[in-house]
Amino acid sequence: MTTSTLSPSRPSRPALAPLLPVVGADTVVPLATGGRATYVNLDNAASAPALAVVAARVAQVLPHYASVHRGAGYLSRVSTALFEQARAQVAGFLGARGDDLVVFTRSTTDALDLLARAVPDGARVLVADVEHHANLLSWQRSARTTVVRGGSDAEETASLLEAELATGRYALLAVAGASNVTGEVLPLRRLARAAHAAGARIAVDGAQLLPHRRVSLAADDPADDLDWIALSGHKLYAPFGAGALVGRRDWLDAAEPYLAGGGATLDVSHDAVRWADGPDRHEAGSPNVVGAVALAQACATLAALPTAALESHEAALRDRLVEGLGALEGVEVVRPHPADAVGVVTFTVPGRPVSEVAAYLSAEHGIGVRDGRFCAHRFADSLGLVEGGLRASTGVGTSSDDVDRLVAAVGRFLTTGPELQYGVVDGHWGPLTDARPAPETFLGPVPEPR
Ligand code: PMP
Repeated sequence: MTTSTLSPSRPSRPALAPLLPVVGADTVVPLATGGRATYVNLDNAASAPALAVVAARVAQVLPHYASVHRGAGYLSRVSTALFEQARAQVAGFLGARGDDLVVFTRSTTDALDLLARAVPDGARVLVADVEHHANLLSWQRSARTTVVRGGSDAEETASLLEAELATGRYALLAVAGASNVTGEVLPLRRLARAAHAAGARIAVDGAQLLPHRRVSLAADDPADDLDWIALSGHKLYAPFGAGALVGRRDWLDAAEPYLAGGGATLDVSHDAVRWADGPDRHEAGSPNVVGAVALAQACATLAALPTAALESHEAALRDRLVEGLGALEGVEVVRPHPADAVGVVTFTVPGRPVSEVAAYLSAEHGIGVRDGRFCAHRFADSLGLVEGGLRASTGVGTSSDDVDRLVAAVGRFLTTGPELQYGVVDGHWGPLTDARPAPETFLGPVPEPR
């Protein structure tokens, strides 16, 4: 249902349905103009909705949830089995080698921070300045790190990294599989080969790549193997608070435990602690069983898609976005045609604040996009996005209608202009008059405790 429907921008292109059902696909939101519209979520790169099957799995598991690892009760054993099953499923999804670890974390940020703390003393780390802060700041904080300037495209960035690796000074290359700003995909196998040839390892920030592409740690030729992958459940259609670091165990077994506490120890005496190794070493405290099970279910569901279904769905949506936005006079798409990219498209409306456009899309059309510098300030600045950009990102729940609604809404902004006036209200851009209820009241009262 929508009172803000605009005619599709590319009626000649074939319509594309969502690839998989997601929770909330039909959610109707209020508009500041007084109408209502079915929400268009084009902010999947930040957080993706739960797959319907993930929500169903969580509902199935919850009645059986109990303490994990340490409980003697039957349901504790069920929960423990679910947790370890989830670990094996995530390992399988990522093509882990027999000796690899799956450490459940909160997120990619958490996983990369864990790995950064496990880098052996004195070892040097190489990153490019195109990275999300999660794959930049933790290295700068914990390890001896060199940050090289990225190139004009992923190909050039890869060449610059290869040249730097060839100096032989590095123990680790840390790269994003796909950029959260341009969607560009880096040639990971090529970089893995270059890293290994130079005596280094490669860690991949999989936050943006894994929701869009199948990736395996193990390659046909071990020279092309990836050593670690970090991922986030909430970007992989499993927003239940779990992520993971998956890969080589030696650095992790030799590192200080990530958190000190129960579950990470073998024995604690008055004067000594014997720490566990393996995943337990870095999973102190009660683990997020439900999050891990949800993440594993999402992995299994994506893995079961027909070959290339994910790639072709999003390639079609990305093309449609780039073509539709690019055809609008007054819109600039950032790096519109990379050699290889996922469904993440950043654009600007020169002369208009990006936050005004984002606020308009939400307030008058019920469309959610991201504006700003996307936690990748150095990259955004180097792309000329000093004042930020607007990012539309697709997922398995995105349809061509979603893309068409965005393109039509931006087109209307440029031609007839917004219906409402916009300005900074309470520190955020928004309409100066707003018929929508306060977001904190949208769901109605919090259920009474019973
Ligand atoms: N890396 C990339 C490329 C990202 O896009 C993000 C999230 N925007 C992160 C890392 C951090 O992910 P999380 O917030 O789930 O830790």
